[in-house]
Amino acid sequence: MDTKLNIYNTLTRKKEVFEPINPPHVGMYVCGPTVYGDAHLGHARPGVNFDLLYRYLMQLGYKVRYVRNITDVGHLENDADEGEDKIAKKARIEQLEPMEIAQYYTNRYHSNMESLNTLRPSIEPHASGHIIEQIELAKQILNQGFAYISNGSVYFDVEKYNKTYPYGKLSGRLIEDLYSNTRELDGQSEKRNPFDFALWKKANPEHIMRWPSPWSDGFPGWHAECSAMGMKYLGETFDIHGGGMDLLFPHHECEIAQSTAAIGKESVKYWIHNNMITINGQKMGKSLGNFITLEELFTGNHKILEQAYSPMTIRFFILQAHYRSTLDFSNEALQAAEKGLNRLMKGIAQIDKIKPAENSTVKIDKIDAKCTEAMNDDLNSPIVIAHLFDGLKTINALVERKEKINSSDLELLKNTYHKWTYNILGLKQETDSKSNELFNNLIDTILNIRLEAKAAKDFATSDNIRDRLKEMGIIIKDKKDGFEWELE
Ligand code: ZN
Repeated sequence: MDTKLNIYNTLTRKKEVFEPINPPHVGMYVCGPTVYGDAHLGHARPGVNFDLLYRYLMQLGYKVRYVRNITDVGHLENDADEGEDKIAKKARIEQLEPMEIAQYYTNRYHSNMESLNTLRPSIEPHASGHIIEQIELAKQILNQGFAYISNGSVYFDVEKYNKTYPYGKLSGRLIEDLYSNTRELDGQSEKRNPFDFALWKKANPEHIMRWPSPWSDGFPGWHAECSAMGMKYLGETFDIHGGGMDLLFPHHECEIAQSTAAIGKESVKYWIHNNMITINGQKMGKSLGNFITLEELFTGNHKILEQAYSPMTIRFFILQAHYRSTLDFSNEALQAAEKGLNRLMKGIAQIDKIKPAENSTVKIDKIDAKCTEAMNDDLNSPIVIAHLFDGLKTINALVERKEKINSSDLELLKNTYHKWTYNILGLKQETDSKSNELFNNLIDTILNIRLEAKAAKDFATSDNIRDRLKEMGIIIKDKKDGFEWELE
């Protein structure tokens, strides 16, 4: 069994043993949201997948500094260098200050991520709070000769960079392909080549979000913030940079070019990308009518949803797929996830009912090792879940007293399930424990009254209670020494 974490590096296109630059410290940067609209399924996946990695690294004993940025400036429509800023556009439509829009959607993003039980990052830097660092980055790149000033804007010179460093190493796109795939310049562009990208953009007179710079009043290009803030908080070189596969090109490719141009070497050791979510086999998009926000999922308030899905159902659904596989959303798949999660959570609750015996007839020390092996194999959470389901058979046999377990093994069984389900997979019981306890006590009280009625041979009352509870979906099983009950 491999005792080390193996992780797929998009840069080298193979699984590598994870060896941090400066153990036990690990620096991890994940591209966060652009805050001009509600978080949707496409945000939930990196949120949950990188939370899984964060939790697991900490479980392995690493001290992780997890940085996830908030893009609140410089991300223009269609991810291009022209057009309106996405946040400013929303602000104009809603007649609000752009930072009001950014704050509003940042708050909503936080509350959605909290519902999904993702841990907060160690640092959450805002692009708008790091304009100076982004200007400095552009200056550095200009000084190295890999950028040029044109009409108050600063552009990255991809062709020149490519003569010294390979451009396209992450995405595998060659500069030759870019020549043939990008539109010819119409002669009015400020850029030397259509694939050059902005480090700094001069603002049009109507552009609200603007800052002074040596070149013009303007704003940073979209890719600048992640290079600038990653290096600021994690150092010139750091361990992990993550994000969705949709960011691989151009965003991450441009980040690599920027950092390499500025400091003369690679900045990131491991590039990790989660795959996309499709909806009934289609890409999610506003024009396709299948764009679902997390709020809509949690409330069921969307025409393609048959019901509401709880945050833990969404989390479990995401974890049931390997992060590098595509994940197809459908009502059937989510309903199956809901059932699966229920079964797992009920199984774990059953552990408390097991009474320890003198000796054990079951072996439970393998569960932890198997889960570790799966996680070490590129975070294979679906296999971890499969092992946890396998163990439920043992738990059932113990509850039904077909097998026996001693108290230290019982402790280990409980700890193993808690560690993997709660600490690493980050799942939680969803109804709050207080109302759960109250509910259980109420049912027990009613059933004790029924027991007394039976003892007094008042079978009418006893049957009445049984029937009425059955109508509510509570099934009573009479036992020699009392009763048991369960939800239908
Ligand atoms: Zn980024």
